[in-house]
Amino acid sequence: MTTFSFSLLTGETGPLVTLNAPETFSIPTPTHKSIVSEGDEVLADEKIAEATRPGVGDVHSPAAGKIEDITVDAIVVRRSGTGQNTPDSAPPSGGKALREWLRGLGINTYQLVRASQLIINAVPPEPGISIYEPLIQDYRHIVELGLDAVQRIVNPSKLHLVVAKGNRTNAFPNCSILQVPPVYPNGIDQLVIKATTGEETLLGTRPKDATILSIRDLYYIGKVMETKRPLTETIMTIGKDNHLIKIGTQIRHLAQEAGVTVQPGDRVIFGGLMRGVAALNIDQGVDKYTTGMIILRHDEGLSPTDNFCLGCGECERHCPARIMPGLISRCAEFKHFERAEDYHIHSCIECGICGYWCKAQRPLLQYIKLAKYEIALLRTASSTLEGEGQ
Ligand code: SF4
Ligand code: SF4
Repeated sequence: MTTFSFSLLTGETGPLVTLNAPETFSIPTPTHKSIVSEGDEVLADEKIAEATRPGVGDVHSPAAGKIEDITVDAIVVRRSGTGQNTPDSAPPSGGKALREWLRGLGINTYQLVRASQLIINAVPPEPGISIYEPLIQDYRHIVELGLDAVQRIVNPSKLHLVVAKGNRTNAFPNCSILQVPPVYPNGIDQLVIKATTGEETLLGTRPKDATILSIRDLYYIGKVMETKRPLTETIMTIGKDNHLIKIGTQIRHLAQEAGVTVQPGDRVIFGGLMRGVAALNIDQGVDKYTTGMIILRHDEGLSPTDNFCLGCGECERHCPARIMPGLISRCAEFKHFERAEDYHIHSCIECGICGYWCKAQRPLLQYIKLAKYEIALLRTASSTLEGEGQ
């Protein structure tokens, strides 16, 4: 049985480890349109897919190779050759032009808006995920390059660095430091925003006059500014180490490099144990915002079931959003999705704590995500119908 702690203390983790490049990449393109075809040869850093949603970065090939397959949510590249695209020209000096330049090179720019307060989130996102530690210690100049670029877009008058008390940190110039208790879920953006500004925000929304970026966001932006090359790597915690990994690297390669095998019945989690998502298969590739990988053996971890809710209230007692996960999960279970809105489903910050404490081992976060998804579909359908009726 895996032992679990809510502590966000990371200690010293050592430098980033670079893995051998895989032969095949499966590059996620969940909200993108491919601009290549099967059989095409591509260079490393060449753009292969364009974002279809505002604020989402375009996607580039992490290596030279041949496009082997294009599915609805991934492009498969088989590595061959060493050709690399030339770097981009010098970035614009700031504002919207710089934001769009970064987006074209793979950076998600949703948070890059003008605001009077810029919050830097250095609190680990989940227990066991320590990706910020080596960036703060060993890649500080790149993080500072990123911060400089962000300031030229956001133009903040106040800068806040939020850290977990007890973790090592270094301040930035003209930046206040706020320490929060090193306990999950204090690293989730909504709670960091609340600790800094007092404002409560819904998942996927921004505070009124503040914006928030993580240390890794700053590192990514700094790296693109320094190299003028697109973002093609992610940083993930695997085991005790933090790794620099090419986007699209498949689970089978990561497991092989780590010297472990994924057995039938095991679950591979992308992210941490609280908020992570189980991979569909071992050919799935990592995304630029994957924070970690965990292999749960078939006899490890909880086995969620569709047991009846016992009405014990344990989930409510621990919910940081002060909502009623048990009740909301029942709305989802019996397909009364819109009813869940009466119980403030949109206040859920998707921390997963309710499911951890559930006496009946109900998959509460999964029910909540399902209800949110169905509500969004219903909204889209009704706005389409309204549009057709005009
Ligand atoms: S995941 Fe559960 S505990 Fe966390 S905010 Fe949502 S309802 Fe509350
Ligand atoms: S903890 Fe589980 S069993 Fe208890 S009220 Fe919440 S959903 Fe129901």
